[in-house]
Amino acid sequence: MNINDILWLIGGASAGVLLTTVVVAWHWRRWQRQYTEQLEASTQIQQLELQIALDELAEKNRLLEQQSMLDTLSGIFNRACFDKRLQNELNRSRREKTCLGLVLVDIDHFKKINDTHGHLAGDAAIQQIASELSAGLKRSSDAVFRYGGEEFAMLLPGTSLAGCIELAEDIRQKIGSTPLQIGSLSLTVTLSAGCYAAVADAHSCSNDYIAAADSALYQAKYLGRNRTASANAIVTPISKGSLNEN
Ligand code: GH3
Ligand code: MG
Ligand code: MG
Repeated sequence: MNINDILWLIGGASAGVLLTTVVVAWHWRRWQRQYTEQLEASTQIQQLELQIALDELAEKNRLLEQQSMLDTLSGIFNRACFDKRLQNELNRSRREKTCLGLVLVDIDHFKKINDTHGHLAGDAAIQQIASELSAGLKRSSDAVFRYGGEEFAMLLPGTSLAGCIELAEDIRQKIGSTPLQIGSLSLTVTLSAGCYAAVADAHSCSNDYIAAADSALYQAKYLGRNRTASANAIVTPISKGSLNEN
């Protein structure tokens, strides 16, 4: 073997090593690219799955929050929701200087309905009255709430005292003249209503509105039930200047 053969062998071996290195590097790069693509794809899938789970959780939270605002018997808004909405509407009334109306409604002699026809009939009466009150609302901003056992509250933003009385009277007369159908039982139920409306001032609070409407409701009961009464300066403990109306 002469020097040329040795150089030829070294050159061949070097070329082999170089070729092998190039091939390995090419495969390595290809594997790296595939791996990165797979990693990106699986990350995207995971992100998508996470987003779906988050959306589902947000929807469940929304439904839970909605349910926590509803009365289980009647399906209308409950007392907790009323307290929140009253405070919000009171703030809006103060801010925008618009009249906020509140009507408290109580079923007359409801205990007698329970005693005579049973609590299930009483429950059905509460459900039907709740539906009638809801159906009687005129504006999308109006809302009705189950305030207590057989008592309801209607919150009427942007409504004057005259408007509150008109709405309460329409509903009261309709319910009083249309007997409820509870199974085979046809039951005439009457309501008493107490109305109050005012533009909230700096001193007004939720309790002012509730106390005034409640005091009007008491008047309606006192005067013989099955009627609507309104709060005025004599019967209500309202802070000065809060009786302005639209
Ligand atoms: P008034 O005309 O003075 O309002 O008399 P009333 O009998 O309606 O008033 P009272 O407060 O004496 O009775 C209300 C009754 O409502 C007593 C309570 O047992 C009943 N009640 C409260 N919540 C429910 C309910 O969810 N279902 C049924 N069936 N009855 C209820
Ligand atoms: Mg009552
Ligand atoms: Mg009652």
